[in-house]
Amino acid sequence: MNTWIDARGATMDEIAAFAKAYPFAILPVGSFEQHGPHLPLDTDNRIAEAMALETAKRSVGMVLPVLNVGYAWVWRGKPGILTFRFETYMAMIRDIAESLAGWGVKAVFVLSAHGSNPQPVKHAIRELIHEKHDIAVLNSLYTGLDEMLAEAESERWHNDIHAEEIETALMLAIAPDLVHMDRAAADYPPVPDDYGRSELSMGMFMRSGVFGDPTPATAEKGRRWLEIGGRRSAELWLGYLQRRGLYDPASGA
Ligand SMILES: [Zn+2]
Repeated sequence: MNTWIDARGATMDEIAAFAKAYPFAILPVGSFEQHGPHLPLDTDNRIAEAMALETAKRSVGMVLPVLNVGYAWVWRGKPGILTFRFETYMAMIRDIAESLAGWGVKAVFVLSAHGSNPQPVKHAIRELIHEKHDIAVLNSLYTGLDEMLAEAESERWHNDIHAEEIETALMLAIAPDLVHMDRAAADYPPVPDDYGRSELSMGMFMRSGVFGDPTPATAEKGRRWLEIGGRRSAELWLGYLQRRGLYDPASGA
């Protein structure tokens, strides 16, 4: 049996057989939010889904459907935004973990492509899941970002990436028809002193919606970074399962 499966196309019998052999799941989590004038609202969801598939192909687990509304308080009021409250997001993660544990899934990797999701996921693990549900939860953004940043030609905006070279390149690799490179332009909004120390958030001082420079993005870079993200995220996930004695990549069980 293959060590991974796309749960979206599987039947009940197929997923039951898979979960018996490999009781592991990968849950891509994204966000439906503005990504400047050149990328679609669905950007983080497409990236999360692609990263989850690339991760699964190099490791083990069933890829679940993407959770396509995130915790995105910073963009509230901006056209297109859909966001859950922090507590709602925590409760949702708990409910999904509980659902999975109910049919024998032993570990789930909540793989995020949106920077704010890991915060409510972390608190859901601590307050709602650990010692209450029989399932281990790994919580991380796709990894390998340092390698991508080292290869990127553009300068990073502050300490975030949003609708810039990396996200644009990934989208050129994943869904080129949805990327409008003719509208892509750099934007480095000045960072106020109280950013990160108060209620002040990106949405309050954004200009075009871009934070960084998307113009050097190419599909070739995107394909390479997707591979790096999948490889590094797979290493993290396999290490996590191995340390907990849930899976030994060498023996395959
Ligand atoms: Zn994004």
